[in-house]
Amino acid sequence: MPKNAKTNRASAAYLRDALLILSLLLIGAAAFLLIRLTAKDGRYVTVEVGDEPPITVSLDTPAEISLAGGGNTLVIENGKAHVRDCTCPDKLCEKQGKISKSGESITCLPNHVHIRVNGDGGVDVGQ
Ligand SMILES: [Zn+2]
Repeated sequence: MPKNAKTNRASAAYLRDALLILSLLLIGAAAFLLIRLTAKDGRYVTVEVGDEPPITVSLDTPAEISLAGGGNTLVIENGKAHVRDCTCPDKLCEKQGKISKSGESITCLPNHVHIRVNGDGGVDVGQ
């Protein structure tokens, strides 16, 4: 009987820990979702190529812009930006997909291209 009681206490403690971890995970997931859902759609992207001065491109107007001497193409469509036809070997920039939320970015290291979404009144970190 005492042995049983001890086992019960142990499993109760285990259950408490499991519930605690579960609720922490749920809170984390909820916070993540909240941030994703409330992230503002960016209004424009800032494009930096090497040491050239950055250019600003609106996400509202569909466009195809050749970057890095034709090294890759920035495509704006449906309010999103992505990179196409990149000459870099790993195509990581193309795999980064479409960006539209403020703060999202695409980087192509081989071509020194950095594309970042900026929203209205957002804080430009690192500018
Ligand atoms: Zn690339």
